[in-house]
Amino acid sequence: MSVSLDIAHENRTAPLTAPGGNARAPLIGLTWPKLQEALVSAGIPEKQARMRAGQLWTAFYHQGLTDFSDITTLSKPLRAEFEERFTLARPEVVTQQISEDGTRKWLIRLASTDPRARAPEVEAVYIPEPGRGTLCISSQVGCTLNCTFCHTGTQKLVRNLTAAEIVAQILIARDALGEWPTPKEGRKITNIVLMGMGEPLYNFDNVKDAIEILSDGEGLSISKRRITLSTSGVVPMIEKVGSEIGCMLAISLHAVNDPTRDLLVPLNKKYPIAELLDACRNFPGLSNARRITFEYVMLKGVNDSKEDAKELVRLLKGIPAKINLIPFNPWPGAPYECSDWEEIETFAEIVNRAGYASPIRTPRGRDIMAACGQLKSESERLKASALTAQ
Ligand code: SAH
Ligand code: SF4
Repeated sequence: MSVSLDIAHENRTAPLTAPGGNARAPLIGLTWPKLQEALVSAGIPEKQARMRAGQLWTAFYHQGLTDFSDITTLSKPLRAEFEERFTLARPEVVTQQISEDGTRKWLIRLASTDPRARAPEVEAVYIPEPGRGTLCISSQVGCTLNCTFCHTGTQKLVRNLTAAEIVAQILIARDALGEWPTPKEGRKITNIVLMGMGEPLYNFDNVKDAIEILSDGEGLSISKRRITLSTSGVVPMIEKVGSEIGCMLAISLHAVNDPTRDLLVPLNKKYPIAELLDACRNFPGLSNARRITFEYVMLKGVNDSKEDAKELVRLLKGIPAKINLIPFNPWPGAPYECSDWEEIETFAEIVNRAGYASPIRTPRGRDIMAACGQLKSESERLKASALTAQ
């Protein structure tokens, strides 16, 4: 059973036009230096900008405030001035669904860049587990990469998310979970994974800014060790994840030879397995304490044999790695089936015996289509079901 709440009406975005008719500039999603710049260009004296940025930063990301009038560290006239010039509005939460296993999924409506088109939507998913809670966020609306087992891959890329929209997914989840101010201990959201919709390395700059904001100790304070970026293998960008972002890396490997991987992850034709693994070997900061996670979706009769497991172990030799076996999550019209449980266990055993931790990821939130690879904007899903009904 799943519960679906339509909370669109309770969560209206604030009007985005200033009294003079100009759009109010968003402050959420600006890194610390960019926030200071925005304040200076709004007329705050340079000497004060650092302090003001600090006050705002605490208000936005430590306290979770959404209204300038609540920022009591600022004088009343300054609050009013900020209110006139800037906005703190979150994107609109269209629905929140809660799975029977406690997984939550939010459908979030973003601002439309084309007033004639439907506003794009993304999904974020919260997965509670004993002692930890992971928030899975999206980096693009749709995806260009068309992996054949992924539901998101069947949706065309609509656009990249801005840094503000990436950060907003955490703010929305924290709002819903009542997790303000940022707790030091006993948090509900302990980890973040960029494993929702889209390929984060095709939106590098915005993802980088967003992670800088998420990991800042004065605000949301999620350590980079607890933020994992998952890529389908955009080889030229992998080094930059280590040197410029410094978060954890996950690679969607899914196959141990090029012909199979070409089929599952078409990007493999551009960046084949050998090049991908070379980039992993050279990943800055790689060590036994900072391993790369290799994701491997278990597809019946495609990539799940004992030989595949042995080849996987051989390929990863010398790379500090964790292997995450993901039972395939079905979606309507998917051309694959999930491997049988026995095959998955045999596969896991071979990998374990070779010394790799290889947890089998328990599917979560399948009843609300929140599991890995099931995400797709609701509007797209409706279109798809209309097509299959014809
Ligand atoms: N584009 C990035 C991140 C988003 S996909 C990437 O591909 O890594 C997040 C993870 O979900 C990836 O490992 C992806 O391969 C996996 N995934 C996609 N579809 C899935 C499905 N139907 N069942 C299980 N896992 C899936
Ligand atoms: Fe895009 Fe990742 Fe899905 Fe492939 S698995 S289509 S890269 S979201």
